[in-house]
Amino acid sequence: MEKMLAAVFHKGDTQGGDIKLEEVELPRIIKSDHVLLEIKACGICGTDLKIMEGGHPANDNTILGHEFAGIVREVGESVQDLEIGDKVVADPNEKCGYCTNCRRSLSSLCEYMASGTTFGIFQNGGFAKFCVVPRSTLFKLPENIDLTAAALIEPLSCAVHCHNLANVKESDNVVIIGAGPMGLIIQSVIRIHPIKRLICIEIDEWRGQKALELGADFLINPESQDVKNEIMRITNDAGVDVIIDAVGISQTFEIATKIWAAGARLICFGQDSRAEAKIKPNDIVRYQRRIIGSYIGYAEDFIDAIELIANKKIYVDKLITKVIPLEDLLKTGFKLMKTRKCVKIITTP
Ligand SMILES: [Zn+2]
Ligand SMILES: [Zn+2]
Repeated sequence: MEKMLAAVFHKGDTQGGDIKLEEVELPRIIKSDHVLLEIKACGICGTDLKIMEGGHPANDNTILGHEFAGIVREVGESVQDLEIGDKVVADPNEKCGYCTNCRRSLSSLCEYMASGTTFGIFQNGGFAKFCVVPRSTLFKLPENIDLTAAALIEPLSCAVHCHNLANVKESDNVVIIGAGPMGLIIQSVIRIHPIKRLICIEIDEWRGQKALELGADFLINPESQDVKNEIMRITNDAGVDVIIDAVGISQTFEIATKIWAAGARLICFGQDSRAEAKIKPNDIVRYQRRIIGSYIGYAEDFIDAIELIANKKIYVDKLITKVIPLEDLLKTGFKLMKTRKCVKIITTP
């Protein structure tokens, strides 16, 4: 039996677990709507680290990697519209299409998906040479697209979703709290469109510099600066119209509610289930502010993300810190992720 190298998650006794590089059997097409992909690139996500540390659930004995692109190598008998050799990207979150949320155009909240079905977390994913996924999860890519860059499409689709919910206008002062990989990818999307100014709030020096490199006009470090004073100085006392909280802890929510202008939109993007916050409802009513949650993305956001990558609208080179072979996933990839001195790391099998 032919084997392939894969990064497999093994649950620990209490919480989290280990990721091991192992030789596993090649996946096979079982259902008629299945597609066998040869993976060409798979991004490392902060979620992969969280899974190891016990901060995110995952199934035991599962191949991780949920940000992947590749080439169609075999299709099930009911797949009519994909050819062998087509370039594709996967939406790892398969949507059922018929639950109430799907039918109410809230497919990122699909009830089937919420039961734990994500490829690369609950089912075998992209840290391997091959992967089998249903046709419905795949988006066909333009022939000339770079498949390493295409590994950014999944996180980019979440950023597009966030940007759409923020409804950013040309006259808006925009703040992004947190310049981790997702904060920086969101910043890249915001920067494509005209706005008044973009301000990044970040503690880590390396990440703050990266934000400036990617087009932030101002950088505020809340550890050494008074955020509210700085914001009022920069915006001539106007405050901020759009705040994207890409961190999602109690402190960042609190910062957001100190700097928001009348009519502001606060987009809660970063997630921490332990975070709690206090808010005065009258601060919302009296100033017509909105607090909006942004959770992954819709199929239409994938289509837009593909367009942004294909048309080179995103600084892919600045967002991909390193491309490494899959066998270096643990010793180079995760190690670099833990230093926080990186944006995206892409593995190639
Ligand atoms: Zn991810
Ligand atoms: Zn659904």
